[in-house]
Amino acid sequence: SKFIVGLTGGIGSGKTTVANLFAKQGITLVDADLVARDVVAPGAEGLEQIRAHFGDQILLDDGNLNRAALRELVFNTPKERQWLNQLLHPMIRAEMLRQVASASSAYVIMVVPLLFENGLDKLVDRTLVVDISPELQRQRTIQRDAVDARQVNNIINSQSSRAEKLAKADDVIDNQGEISKLECEVLALHQKYLHLSGKA
Ligand code: ATP
Repeated sequence: SKFIVGLTGGIGSGKTTVANLFAKQGITLVDADLVARDVVAPGAEGLEQIRAHFGDQILLDDGNLNRAALRELVFNTPKERQWLNQLLHPMIRAEMLRQVASASSAYVIMVVPLLFENGLDKLVDRTLVVDISPELQRQRTIQRDAVDARQVNNIINSQSSRAEKLAKADDVIDNQGEISKLECEVLALHQKYLHLSGKA
């Protein structure tokens, strides 16, 4: 079966930037955030079950999931949050593995922001952590999104720490320098993964 590299890193670390460089080498990306959105899209089984459980209050007028309402409903209710996670996590896993199986590239990059936190590292053959300091996480995220340092700090603190991620990483890509330095590092890792997957 297909060789899977799990790509992770904290908020604003550069996962998308790095993933796109692998895609440029022809490697298929399986993006956990996109899959998580797909399983609750109109017509999807996940949204149907959420509607059956919480009622139509959970839908927007256009039929899309009302994420704010759902967040509100599960935020202070661990039982409901658990119900939701037990519904969606297996669906997300299954859909990611389906996308892996249908990929035609030598190996696949799974982009998973909470790879270690959600135990998805068990699904992959190798983990790759994009590493930057919390200070750079704050700088780059504030520059990209309409958020302040306090909001970014809250997210950083809710994720596994830099040290925890580094301790669990099989490979690390340092993204503290210029974006232009990434391509060379990605090419070296790409060669390594071609070898590991038995395709070179
Ligand atoms: P998130 O998990 O928050 O979605 P991410 O890990 O996917 O983030 P990116 O979106 O790739 O991170 O990068 C965060 C921001 O930092 C983007 O605006 C990106 O263009 C920028 N960036 C990435 N790498 C560098 C770099 N080496 N130097 C400067 N800016 C960078």
